[in-house]
Order: sequence, then structure tokens, then C-alpha cells
Amino acid sequence: MKRRVFSGARPTGRQHLGNYLGALQNWVSIQDEYDCIYCVVDVHALTTLEDTSSLQQNIHEMVLDWLAVGLDPQKSILFVQSHVPEVMELHTLLSMITPLGWLLRVPTFKEKVKIQPHNVNYGLVGYPVLQTADIVLYKAEVVPVGEDQVPHIELAREIARRFNNLFGNTFPEPVAKLTSFPLILGLDGKEKMSKQLGNDVEIALSDKATIDRVMTAVTDPARQYRSDPGHPEVCNVYHLHGYFNPSQLDDIAEQCRAAKIGCVDCKMLLAEKINFTLRPFRKRRAALAAKPQYVKEVLADGAQRAQAIARVTLSEVKQRMGLV
Ligand code: SF4
Repeated sequence: MKRRVFSGARPTGRQHLGNYLGALQNWVSIQDEYDCIYCVVDVHALTTLEDTSSLQQNIHEMVLDWLAVGLDPQKSILFVQSHVPEVMELHTLLSMITPLGWLLRVPTFKEKVKIQPHNVNYGLVGYPVLQTADIVLYKAEVVPVGEDQVPHIELAREIARRFNNLFGNTFPEPVAKLTSFPLILGLDGKEKMSKQLGNDVEIALSDKATIDRVMTAVTDPARQYRSDPGHPEVCNVYHLHGYFNPSQLDDIAEQCRAAKIGCVDCKMLLAEKINFTLRPFRKRRAALAAKPQYVKEVLADGAQRAQAIARVTLSEVKQRMGLV
């Protein structure tokens, strides 16, 4: 039996280089080794989304990207969180055994309170409980995450352990599997790449649009003129070369330090390498987009398969808790 992996992502629409390098490549690569379940967490998104008019379009665009980069619905289950409502029931049941103090200590909750003080909703506090329900409903053992999500997985382990102690051994304690590229900075060179911050490069852009975006990237701030020697280690363009152009990385560092290459040429080279890497993906995406029902069919099939597992777990949980 393969070990089961669960991972989810908010429906942010078209995916960017950060999503691609930080999560998707890893998701694709582990499909043969694990029994993988990948979920669009639309209910989680409601904790911060006030306008839901683009929600369905964003789900569609995101899943199209997932399929085009190589997530294979024959190997993995792809579905939307709200299409398997058993997770809401499990969330309620787990919330009864989760001490409030555990939730108020979570660093991302404190951050969200700062970011949206006008909308500190109950869902923000309960976010890690719903996340735990997402994972343990499928009895997943492994959760691929970035470093910022590790405290949530620790909490999921504590909640699972508490349930097991109270009602008998039911859930495996999930473990975090850190991706090899945990943090991809955006074009501003400061913050994590994010659509919200506008510092991203979407993977489905055309060649020309990719060049235009990469040209806006901030480089070494100390390099004012072409003749100034650069410091590649502080430049995000250089770091992105590491992912898309590793064979020339040492060369670029040397030329940058000796002011033999200008930032415009360096960025153009990066954009070309990104386009070269992503061209097959873009071709596949266009072919999939030409089948308008395809994404819907994949998600409906995924929901059915996920629900079959979810119903068994939920029934076991209710029995253990004395509800049946
Ligand atoms: S030459 Fe390249 S690595 Fe050096 S500062 Fe400019 S963009 Fe960055």
C-alpha cells in the first residue's frame, strides 16, 4: 500500500512561478510514489475573500494549470473541498476537542488579524481545525507544505493525537514533507511571490508577456549603472536563474560581479529560459482549454472518489464519539 498524501491550495486562479516551483513540481513528482489527493480549498478561501464573484473562474483556471503541468487524474484525486461536504461535519466534531488556546497561538492567525482587522471572522480562528479535517478525513499520512505551513501541520498532529487519546486510535498523525524550493520571492525581490502583491509571473503567460513581466524585476539595488559591479547573491533574478538556467548560474555570477553583463540582458536571458521551460506546458494547457467540460469532469470524478473515502472515515468517527 502506498502512503497517502493530502495537499490543498486556495483557488487563486492562474498559477505563478512561485506555485510552480514551490508546490506543483513537487506534487507532480510524487504521484507515482504516493496515493495523492489534491484539493482546491474553496471554503478556506472564504475566510479572507469578501467578493466571491471570480471564485468559479479561479477554480477552473487553477485546475487547468494543475492538469497542464502534469497532475494526472488517473493517478491522483483532484477535487474541490466544498464538493465533499463531509469535511464540514468533521470540522465541527474536531472543533469540540480542540482547545481555543491552541488556535489563538497559531502565527498565521495573528498575522491575519493584523492584515484584516475589519474581518476577524470565526473561520480564521478555526482555519487549522478545518485544515486538520481536510487531512485526517482521508487518513493522509504525509502533507507536502512550505515552511510557513509547518506550525499548522504540527497542530493537525496534536488534534489527531488528542482525538486518538480520547476516542481510540482512528487517525494517523500526519507529517509535513517540506518541498525542496520552499520560498520563491516575487519580482520585487522582497516578498514571497503572490498574486495579491502583484509581484508574480503567471506560468500560462505568452512568451512576450513573460518577457515584459520579467523586465520589471528589481535587481541588485546597489547596481545603479551598467558599469557598476553587481552582487548576484542579493538579486532575485539571479536566484530565478538557479531554477530555470542552472547550467549558466556560475557564469552569470562571475559576469555580474565583473560588470560584464547588464541587468537588461540578464533578465532577457532569464525570460527566454522560463519560456523555454514552460512552452510544453502552455501547449498542453491550450489543448485542455479547448475541451470546455474537461475540468468539470475531472473535478466531479475526483469528488466522487474523495467522498467514498470521506464517508467511511466520518462514520467511524461518529461511532467512536458515541454519536451512532
Ligand atoms: S546582472 Fe543579473 S544577477 Fe547581476 S544584478 Fe543584474 S540582474 Fe541581478
